[in-house]
Amino acid sequence: MLFSSTPKATREELFDREEELSELEKLLNIYPIVVVTGLRRVGKSSLIRVYLNEHENYFMSIDVRKLYEMSFGNISSLHLTRLVGEELNKISKIEKLSSFLRKIRGISIHGSSVEIDAKQFELSDMFEKLEAFAAKNNKNFIVFFDEAQYLKFYGARGGEEIRMLLAYSYDNLPHVRFIFTGSEVGMLHDFLKFEDPDSPLYGRAMGFLTVKPFSFELSLEFLRKGFEELEEKIDFDLSEVVKQLDGIVGYLVLFGLKYMTMKNKDKALQEVFSTMSVLFEKELSEITKRSPRYMTVLKSIAIGINTWTGLKNVLHARGDFVSDSRLFSVLETLQKLSLVEKFQDRYRITDQVLERILRE
Ligand code: ADP
Ligand code: MG
Repeated sequence: MLFSSTPKATREELFDREEELSELEKLLNIYPIVVVTGLRRVGKSSLIRVYLNEHENYFMSIDVRKLYEMSFGNISSLHLTRLVGEELNKISKIEKLSSFLRKIRGISIHGSSVEIDAKQFELSDMFEKLEAFAAKNNKNFIVFFDEAQYLKFYGARGGEEIRMLLAYSYDNLPHVRFIFTGSEVGMLHDFLKFEDPDSPLYGRAMGFLTVKPFSFELSLEFLRKGFEELEEKIDFDLSEVVKQLDGIVGYLVLFGLKYMTMKNKDKALQEVFSTMSVLFEKELSEITKRSPRYMTVLKSIAIGINTWTGLKNVLHARGDFVSDSRLFSVLETLQKLSLVEKFQDRYRITDQVLERILRE
């Protein structure tokens, strides 16, 4: 069903994205590491899940945001091992794989369930065994880290251990491939550090794919198809909805779901904005805790005060005599979080729905 709030998993549920699916396949054939970015709720997780489910590969998926939340901001190897264990449990049902898993230090298998002794278990050892398994079967083993920018909270060195492991795998394990997604594009780049000469991943070529919002036409078609699927007759102009929500499919889905219970376009739209307002508040809580400047700057940009001087004046008028370097770093962080983008010396909010919420 198109209007469902969880990420899609099968081709039939996925609207459009043919080009992205074939691009992803192409990139994975060339590069051991593929980085998929795009705004929040644009459909990254869905795209990749469908790809993984529909292709002749082995895979495991790690939701790094979940990992971050369950570890209260400091991810240890224990936390990661626990999620890896859950994933291995899912794939241990593949008969041939369980005999390989047995060879990994720290892993024991009872029936079809996998147990990991975290003290003995090493990710690098697991990757080596998975490489042997994949090579033998002439397939790839794909490790998918969703919202991977949170890996910078792994260990005590900003995720350095993971970068080292990735570099090792990149150079030595050709059948183990990685997909990283990130809604916070700058933060993801900060974690991967492929442009930093001191980083283990420096100089490794990677594939990049950006998932874009749907065009106006496609968004309309998406809504039309979604309502058709539910046999819902629509008596209003769908383009009104797309104008307000733009082509971010997560919002269109939310509208569809709200409409189905409320049967009123304006009320459903209102519900989308109020639901998102709560979600954004949660998503922005981290930076608003750090400094009230972030919210002031975001709100100012949303109402059109979008130049450097303009923003500085706003803060000064509030008695906050921010230095140039501090304001620079506030704006840089907001850009790294993909909340703000810069276009010809003006800043703007990347997401139309967030922009409207900030204006209210
Ligand atoms: P992201 O990972 O970019 O935040 P998700 O994949 O979680 O986005 O998608 C957000 C919402 O949009 C979910 O409800 C999902 O089911 C829906 N969705 C995403 N892509 C599609 C698509 N191509 N067709 C139909 N629904 C989609
Ligand atoms: Mg996602």
